[in-house]
Amino acid sequence: MKLILLGPPGVGKGTQANLLEKKVQIPKISTGDILRREIQSQSALGQKAQQFINDGKLVPDEVVIGIIKNRLQKSDCRAGFILDGFPRTLPQAEALKTITPIDHVIYLKGNEEELIRRLEGRRTCSQCAKMYHVTFTPPKKESVCDECGGDLIQRKDDHRETISKRLQEYDRLTKPLLEYYQKQESLREVDGLASVEEVFKNLLMKVETK
Ligand code: AMP
Repeated sequence: MKLILLGPPGVGKGTQANLLEKKVQIPKISTGDILRREIQSQSALGQKAQQFINDGKLVPDEVVIGIIKNRLQKSDCRAGFILDGFPRTLPQAEALKTITPIDHVIYLKGNEEELIRRLEGRRTCSQCAKMYHVTFTPPKKESVCDECGGDLIQRKDDHRETISKRLQEYDRLTKPLLEYYQKQESLREVDGLASVEEVFKNLLMKVETK
C-alpha cells in the first residue's frame, strides 16, 4: 500500500501515520522528522533546512525531493509506505509521480482554530518523536515521554507566531494539491478533528474499500 496523508499542520497526520505503520507494517516516512534529525546531527542538509523550519517556511523543493528519492529506494519501501508531510507543493507532487505510483491519497481535514489549539499544546519527545498534548493527551509524568523516558519539548515551530506562518504556507502552497489529486480521482477525505480512534477507523475504511 502506497499512501499519502495530506492535510494542514496539526491535523494529526503524524499520529495517524504512526498507527497505520504499526497496523499495516509499512514504514511511515515523515520529511519533517527526517529534517529534524538532520538538524540535530548538524549535517549540511540540516543546516540548510533549519532556518526555513524555524521561520515556518517550507524547505526548498529540491531538498525534500532529494530526501524522498533516496528514502523510497530503500528495501523496506518495497511493500509500500506512508508519506506524512510530503508532497507539500505541486512540483513535489509532480516529482513523486515520476518516482512511483500512489494507491491512496487521504486528506485529513481540520479547521484553523482547532489546529492552532492542537499545535500550541503539542509536545514532542526529543528522543523518539512521540507526540503529546498538554491538555488532551498529557504524558503520565510531566515533560517525560511515556514510551522511552526522553524529554518532551515544544518544537520551535509550534509557537504561535510560527504556527500562523505555517498555516499561511499551507494555504498558499499545499492546498492546491487537493484539487490536483481530486482531478486524478485519488483524493479521499476524512474528518481529522474526530477522536484519534475515530479518525483511524475512518481512515482504514477508506483505504480498505477502494
Ligand atoms: P512537519 O513535521 O511535517 O510539520 O514539518 C515541519 C517543517 O519541516 C515544515 O514546516 C517545513 O518547514 C519542513 N518540511 C517538512 N516536509 C516538507 C516538505 N514536503 N516540503 C517542504 N518543507 C517541508
